[in-house]
Amino acid sequence: MNETRTWTSELTKAYRNIKDLYHFLGWELSPEVEDVAKLYPIFITRSLALKLKEDGPHGVLAREFLPLKSEMAPSGLMDPIGDKIHLKAPQLIHRYHSRALFTPTTVCPVHCRYCFRKNELSVSDELFINDFEKTLSYLRDHKEITEIIFTGGDPLTLSNSKIENYLVAFSHLTHIKDIRFHSRYPVILPERIDNEFLDLIKKFSTHFRTLSIAIHANHSLEFDETSKSKIIELSQTKVQLLSQSVLLKGVNDNTEDLTNLMETFHSLGVRPYYLHHPDQVRGGMHFYLPLQRGREIYQALRQKLPGWAIPQYIVDIPGGHGKVPAYNPETTQFSGQFMGKGGHILSSPEPEFFV
Ligand code: SF4
Repeated sequence: MNETRTWTSELTKAYRNIKDLYHFLGWELSPEVEDVAKLYPIFITRSLALKLKEDGPHGVLAREFLPLKSEMAPSGLMDPIGDKIHLKAPQLIHRYHSRALFTPTTVCPVHCRYCFRKNELSVSDELFINDFEKTLSYLRDHKEITEIIFTGGDPLTLSNSKIENYLVAFSHLTHIKDIRFHSRYPVILPERIDNEFLDLIKKFSTHFRTLSIAIHANHSLEFDETSKSKIIELSQTKVQLLSQSVLLKGVNDNTEDLTNLMETFHSLGVRPYYLHHPDQVRGGMHFYLPLQRGREIYQALRQKLPGWAIPQYIVDIPGGHGKVPAYNPETTQFSGQFMGKGGHILSSPEPEFFV
């Protein structure tokens, strides 16, 4: 009997046990890597496991999604972007004047090894406690907030009906004009973009001024035919599709891979939007590269791509100071007093300093 493949069944069948995964891959599993997976568990869907196998043990996908001994290094910050400083209600982070982050779930379709929340996602802390009434109450008192950004975890882990309930609630707050989702599903588990979700997106695109989905991918090898066709389906609705990528050492820290990635996004109707400098997260420092190196790569990317295909290169200043442009050819102070050995950004009293 043929099993029906749905996104929820794919989540249920995902590899969570490192031995089972390596058995499927046919690769040798070292005791050290097994220990890393105890601290930072894996979560790999069957379709991603197939892509990993094809790309090989030393490929970019293995680096993005499989444990490495380097994750045990004691460097890096537990909360690298200082989210908790700006937690205003359970599940609500208000850091920027007109927009707020809403974190309704801890669950993702994959555990990215570089994730800035890798030390928070395994424990359900106050960032994810469900108390929606407090969130609504804060929003009612803060009419300057015009955009809600669904993040997490990955917000598309929520069922369509839960997403609909949240959208209805936000649509009753007349100052909320824009809605944005940040998600890895369209690339990692594209079956999530089912007909019901497409209908939901079509319906709510008329309730808000803009409805956007920022699609997270870091390398063109992450895409397959299903993800490409689902993203094209999404692009045919009124939703605004944006790209979101992280510059990662050993994955995409070269102009050629980034050019391919931006061209892939563009060919699917996704506007290149954000290229994040990697966060200095505990357990993910092997993905970190000095800002100066990032700027060189970005400068070369600017020379290769037309203006409309160039994402903004941004960096989150540790300590909750927020995102600032990482590239400004006229600003030279950036490489000075706020950088540690090897070009690590330490902190800044005033984010405006960098702009
Ligand atoms: S999908 Fe996003 S939040 Fe989830 S592990 Fe990956 S980077 Fe982190």
